Amino acid sequence: MTRGIVLQGQENGDTAPLIVCESCGERIQDVQLAWVMWRNLQQPDQSTKPAILCKKNHCNAKPEYADFASMELRDFLIDLCRNVGMRQEKDFHEALEMAHLADQL
Ligand SMILES: [Zn+2]
Repeated sequence: MTRGIVLQGQENGDTAPLIVCESCGERIQDVQLAWVMWRNLQQPDQSTKPAILCKKNHCNAKPEYADFASMELRDFLIDLCRNVGMRQEKDFHEALEMAHLADQL
């Protein structure tokens, strides 16, 4: 199974974005039970792919991630939204309204 941020087909034919723990492969369904971790960057223009790890199975506490920088998944997602232009509360309200409408189709 693909891990991290994935798209997965659903029984109704839709495709849904999901997050799967990159260590144990379990789907993350509670934003409060996951961390985003990455190797510290040495230069301002460097970039890296973060690992999204669950707390439920203690994947975030595994020794291979001991020296990684980290942030809560909730904060990562908010920063991500802000960095792609969703900055106002109304942007989030509009997106949530559209998601609720899509759920009713
Ligand atoms: Zn895990």
